[in-house]
Amino acid sequence: MSEWKKYALNVGKGKLSDDAQELETVYHVVHARICRRILEDEKLRAGIIGDESILKTSRIAVVWTSANYWHNGSIYGSVRFGFKWKKLVRDRKIYWVEDREYRNPAYRLLITERDLSNDKRLQAYDPETDNGPLRRIDGSWYWNGKYTSEFMIDQDIPLAQAASFDFVSHAKCRESRSCDEEKNGYQSTGGQVMSFILGNGIHGLDKVLADDGDLTSEANSTLISVYRALLPKAQKFDGVLSKTSSVTAAIRGALALHGSGQRSEAMKLIATIRDEDVFEKGLEEIVRSHFDLANWKFD
Ligand SMILES: [Zn+2]
Repeated sequence: MSEWKKYALNVGKGKLSDDAQELETVYHVVHARICRRILEDEKLRAGIIGDESILKTSRIAVVWTSANYWHNGSIYGSVRFGFKWKKLVRDRKIYWVEDREYRNPAYRLLITERDLSNDKRLQAYDPETDNGPLRRIDGSWYWNGKYTSEFMIDQDIPLAQAASFDFVSHAKCRESRSCDEEKNGYQSTGGQVMSFILGNGIHGLDKVLADDGDLTSEANSTLISVYRALLPKAQKFDGVLSKTSSVTAAIRGALALHGSGQRSEAMKLIATIRDEDVFEKGLEEIVRSHFDLANWKFD
């Protein structure tokens, strides 16, 4: 009996079990630190397999993706990249890798361009006919949402393929017991990542952050986190800068610093600005020119 039978969606006569959910998007969740690297590289790099797996000693490198959303927080971080499943899987082969007996059992499938039919550890998986956790019926894809899905993509994924980019809560960090991202919350991390993007003029995600001549609501709320993070708290604005070009230069520098985790240094630059009004206008100007949106403003 195939290992995948435990996770079967039991498709019979066009009927799907209740565990079947339509598979449209898969996600890759990371910490802000890794996100910065992805933004600079303009791709998600496939990495060797560090988890317990039958492929651990293999030379196969993968990007881990999953269709699951964790209401109580992801263990991987708070920055989430989304990819259209159909695009990822197009012209690829699918292999069953294994399942793992976690508290919520996980099933793993490998998605690859290569023919690995000679690899004894893997079993070719046909979503049209094999009754496991991943099915394709009349061109639509379904996954078994009762368990943890793990889709291993065995090549780099270009950032340009990202279909969404947002922030999710982070809990039970698997890297550190005192994880800053977990403590600070995803809005704060979102603000930091957005600062990195604006401060360094990174454009790889523009098309998922802006849409139809406006920013997405997600991007707008993240910009409010940027505003809050850079707004002086105890001390007041006490600088002299008020000329647009000097103000935007100072804010850009502050964004880059905050984006790489140096908020206190960033605040020294912000303190050179005359007042909150000037600061707000300067930040708006940076957002407008970054996304090429002539009329954008904070609500
Ligand atoms: Zn963490």
